[in-house]
Amino acid sequence: MAIQVPFFRPDIREPEIDEVVASLRSGWLTTGPRVKRFEEEFAAAVGAPHAVAVNSATAALHLAVEALGLKAGEAVLVPTMTFAATAEVVRYLGGHPVLVDCDPVTMNLDLDDARRKLEALRAGRLAARIPADAKPVGIIPVHVGGLMMDVERGRAFAHENGLWVVEDAAHAFPASWRRDSRSPWQRCGENTSAISCFSFYANKTITTGEGGMATTTDAELAQRMRLMSLHGLSHDAWGRYSGGGKWDYRILAPGFKYNLTDLAAAIGIHQLARAEAMRQEREAVARRLLEAFADVEELEVPATDENRIHSWHLFPIRLRLDRLAIDRNAFMEELKERGVGCSVHWRPLHLHPYYEETFGWRAEELPTATRVWETLVSLPIFPSMREAEIEHVVATVRDLCHTHRTAVAREAFARN
Ligand SMILES: *Cc1c(COP(=O)(O)O)cnc(C)c1O
Repeated sequence: MAIQVPFFRPDIREPEIDEVVASLRSGWLTTGPRVKRFEEEFAAAVGAPHAVAVNSATAALHLAVEALGLKAGEAVLVPTMTFAATAEVVRYLGGHPVLVDCDPVTMNLDLDDARRKLEALRAGRLAARIPADAKPVGIIPVHVGGLMMDVERGRAFAHENGLWVVEDAAHAFPASWRRDSRSPWQRCGENTSAISCFSFYANKTITTGEGGMATTTDAELAQRMRLMSLHGLSHDAWGRYSGGGKWDYRILAPGFKYNLTDLAAAIGIHQLARAEAMRQEREAVARRLLEAFADVEELEVPATDENRIHSWHLFPIRLRLDRLAIDRNAFMEELKERGVGCSVHWRPLHLHPYYEETFGWRAEELPTATRVWETLVSLPIFPSMREAEIEHVVATVRDLCHTHRTAVAREAFARN
C-alpha cells in the first residue's frame, strides 16, 4: 500500500496515559492538583512567575484582553495573517480589530504597516469601517509557525503608541529570541509581553487535547484572569472544596467557564516534560526539508534566523507561481492524492466574509497577505516522523515541482 503521511500525528506516550488513568482513579476529574502542578511546571518552563491554565488559547486571549481592560469601541491591532481566535476575542468585548499586513517571508506582523494603520485610523483614511475616534489600546502579535517576531521592536512600537502587548503564542512553545549573537536568550512567555497565551490544542507543539495557558509577570493581571476563568468566584474549585469549609464563595464579577480539567492537565504534565525533546525532533525534520528543497527553484522555504530558537510548529513553503503551471490549490490536491497531508496557514482574516462584510476591509489595504497566502502550503512536521515519511514528503514535493515547471522555467533550467 502506498505510504500516507498525515499532516500531524500527536506524540502521546505511556506516562500521559498512566497519568490520565491515575487522575480517573483519584476521583478528582476537574480543576485540582494536576492543574496546579501543570501551571507551576509550565511557569518554570517559560520563566514566568504566574501561569493560569484554561481550556483553550482562545480562552486565554479573551481573559488577557479582559484583564487589560479592553472596552467596547476601542481599537486593537491584530495581524490579518492569523487564526480566527486572535481577532474574535477583541470582538467579544466590542472592540475593533484593526488588521495589519504581514512580512512577506516570516508571515509575522509587519510593524511598519502597524504604524501606517494607526496613522490611517487617526486620519480617518482606513477604507475599513472603523470609527476614526476608536482609541487604539493594544496589539496582539502572533509568532507564526513558532518563529518569534522581534520582541524588542514590538515593545518599542507599543510603548511609543501607548499600547499594551498580548502575545498570541499558540505556536511558540518552546521558542526563544535574542537581539543578536552577543545578547542573552529570552524565552517566549519570559516577560516578552504583558500576557502570553499558549495553545495545547490537539495539533499544537504540546497538547492536552484542548487546553491553553496565560503567563504573565504581573500578579494583578494573573489574579484577574484566574478570577474570570471560573465564574468570577472568590475561590477556584480546588480552593473551595479542599477542606476548610470553603463552600461560601462570593461572586465578584460575571466571569466565564474557562478552567482546565485535571484529566487534561494529566496529559499536559508529561507533554511538557518532553517539550524540548519534541521540538528538537521537529527541528531535525525541518533541517531535512530545508536541505532537500534548497535547490528547488519553484518554491521558497520557511525563514530561519540564528537569533531565534524556532518551535517548528509549522513548515510552510511558498510556491513560486511564476515558475509553476499549476496553482496552490491544484498543488495541494496532488499532494493529498499522493498521500501527503497538507494545510494552509492561513486565508487572511480580511478575506473572510465576516471581516469583509462587517468592516469592509479591502484586499488593497493588506497587499502582502493578499498576495502571499495564495502561495502557502504547510507540509507535515511532527515529532517521531518516520524516515520513510520524511522521504515521501521530500520526493513528492520535488516531483510535483519538476512535473509542473513552466516551459519558461524548463528552458532556463536546460540552459544552465
Ligand atoms: C490554534 C491557534 C489559536 C487557538 O488555540 P485554541 O487552543 O484552539 O483556542 C489561536 N491562535 C493561533 C495563531 C492558533 O494557531
